[in-house]
Amino acid sequence: MTTVLLLFYYRQGLLKFVVSKENKMSKNKIDGIMRKGVQSVFTVKEKTFLTPHYIRVKFAMNDEQLELFSNVQTGGHNKLFFPDETRRTYTTRHIDFVEKELWVDFVAHGDNGPASAWANRTSPGDRLAIGMKEGRRPLFPEVDEYLFIGDSTALPVIGAMLEQLPANVQVQVIMEIPGKEDELKLCSEAHLATRWVYNSEPEQNSDLAALVRNMEFSGGNRFVFVAAEYDTAKNLKNYFRNELAWPSETFSVVSYWKRGESEDQSSAKRREERQLSV
Ligand SMILES: Cc1cc2nc3c(=O)[nH]c(=O)nc-3n(C[C@H](O)[C@H](O)[C@H](O)COP(=O)(O)OP(=O)(O)OC[C@H]3O[C@@H](n4cnc5c(N)ncnc54)[C@H](O)[C@@H]3O)c2cc1C
Repeated sequence: MTTVLLLFYYRQGLLKFVVSKENKMSKNKIDGIMRKGVQSVFTVKEKTFLTPHYIRVKFAMNDEQLELFSNVQTGGHNKLFFPDETRRTYTTRHIDFVEKELWVDFVAHGDNGPASAWANRTSPGDRLAIGMKEGRRPLFPEVDEYLFIGDSTALPVIGAMLEQLPANVQVQVIMEIPGKEDELKLCSEAHLATRWVYNSEPEQNSDLAALVRNMEFSGGNRFVFVAAEYDTAKNLKNYFRNELAWPSETFSVVSYWKRGESEDQSSAKRREERQLSV
């Protein structure tokens, strides 16, 4: 029934919905505020390979969509609804209210998943339904030092967070990407130090967790954010929470995908992991 309704509204071209009562209530418990879901069908305006493994899709926004999405958070996550009825979670990399654009950056990992395959093939004029939650909860707490760690899927959220940091803080970024040609220019007003780590086969393994485990951490007023593949996320969450016994508000570790499994297959397990994070 939900799918039928979604298809109906999808064909209307534009829709605005309020999340189910159950979701509203659970969100109430977390935020103390109602968070509305907004959704619309967007038209692809431009597609660019930022690097060999990275595709930026810019969607055009009409005035009605600008109004509808005026309260969503850049760097927040969204849901992309594909024509074959699968849906995937991505990051709202940027909403440009002047150019009237919404940006989503896709890791091009081949045609083995509907999202990556769609991004590979899409061209201007294609349409895609995108949903987001309203709300402008800060993406990070206010501290003096930040450490952002991620693989390619985390570049959009880390890019957005960097752009939101104030000038008077230190931030270190450790990014795992396929190769040197995939490095992107990162912008921040903060004092930024970036370390790129190369891994041409992220679907086989990753040394990211081992690298972080070899780091020395000072006792400063610091926040660590990690978004990466399931095994890396699980490893580092265990390290920070159980082995280093850091207070939960000082770190956030999120699994963004799982090797060998589609998002549908892995999401329940990853949701469980997320609930265990701060
Ligand atoms: C909150 C959140 C925000 C996210 N934001 C982004 C974002 O902005 N950009 C982005 O690219 N991804 C992002 N991701 C990750 C993205 O949702 C997954 O990579 C998703 O699995 C891609 O869907 P798909 O249809 O391409 O592949 P799926 O159908 O889910 O998977 C098919 C196969 O591809 C493999 N696979 C999936 N992702 C990758 C990858 N990155 N590299 C190599 N193999 C992979 C799977 O293990 C599986 O074997 C985000 C995830 C979360 C939870």
